[in-house]
Amino acid sequence: MNDCTTCGSLGDSQYANTGRDESLPAAMSGLKSLWEASGSNAHDLLLCPTCGAWFEFTDDTAFTGSGNNDSQTLKRLPPQAWILLEKLLHGDVSQPETLLSDAMAHLSSDLFFDVIARVPPAAFAALLPWLTRRFFTTPNDQENHALYGTLNRVITRPALRTKYLTLAKAHGTLPPRAKFLVELCEKEIAKSR
Ligand SMILES: [Zn+2]
Repeated sequence: MNDCTTCGSLGDSQYANTGRDESLPAAMSGLKSLWEASGSNAHDLLLCPTCGAWFEFTDDTAFTGSGNNDSQTLKRLPPQAWILLEKLLHGDVSQPETLLSDAMAHLSSDLFFDVIARVPPAAFAALLPWLTRRFFTTPNDQENHALYGTLNRVITRPALRTKYLTLAKAHGTLPPRAKFLVELCEKEIAKSR
């Protein structure tokens, strides 16, 4: 709890079982939505306009059963996450390695990948070495899959594509999705000839 007039009453975490007609507190409407994500399985970042606190909103709609387990959660992010979010969203990536490992440590996996997908194009190039290294080496298949989705944008952007291919070549033996992305890049190059 804090004494912010807009978000103080929201506490650190709010949960509503929307499948049983519960809803998140009305105070949430005072927060500003960054991505204006709505509908089932929406994931959004909210900012308190009064004190600058950041919140993560998640809608978990179950696609099976009666819908009784549908839920929404609103989580106040810790201050160490705020600076990381601001840096990534503004493309302030002067120390990409530290920034990304800190972001992975302090943000949920969903939020991490949602934010990375919104990093300004010019800054994304600076993040590429860390992201590709992680893509080539992570033993976690879910993370590998999410990284594949993130790195897909290199296919149609020549400068990023060249950089990705160089990093892939330097790495040697690649896991399946990384190899597939190399093939997609090469196909795109062949198409533009
Ligand atoms: Zn506030």
